[in-house]
Amino acid sequence: MATDYDRNNIFAKILRGEAPCFKVFEDETTLAFMDVMPQSEGHVLVVPKEDAAQIFELSAPAALACMQTVQRLSLAVRAALEPTGLIVAQFNGSDAGQTVPHVHFHIIPRWKSEPLLPHARVPADPAKLEAIARKIRAQLQ
Ligand code: 5GP
Repeated sequence: MATDYDRNNIFAKILRGEAPCFKVFEDETTLAFMDVMPQSEGHVLVVPKEDAAQIFELSAPAALACMQTVQRLSLAVRAALEPTGLIVAQFNGSDAGQTVPHVHFHIIPRWKSEPLLPHARVPADPAKLEAIARKIRAQLQ
């Protein structure tokens, strides 16, 4: 039961360069960028370049590549921001909380004293997102 892929979803537009993003990492198969409505400071999204709405449609090589990028970015986020914890999450279908129909992995750093912000609700200051992206990129060099 494959989900139809909507080529007009916002992550497809970002991947095609038709919409902007605060990029932190890119390779042949994946892209990582800042979430513009972060649940905590340093919330990063990792997406495969392959067209897939949900994890069920993702090829095994693309899934592997995503997980390698997720681990790489998790290490960079930890080094850049020194959180006391870090969530990796991935939602499939609206009943699971998915709002953008292109597979993606959330990397959400956590601090004991900071409450988790609501999902996809509060736009962040673009200057702050760029500053955090720069810090994370510096750890990838
Ligand atoms: P989902 O609910 O599908 O698991 O997560 C989608 C995520 O994408 C949310 O955390 C939301 O804040 C984020 N998001 C929505 N629109 C945009 C956008 O235009 N750019 C970026 N960078 N993130 C977005």
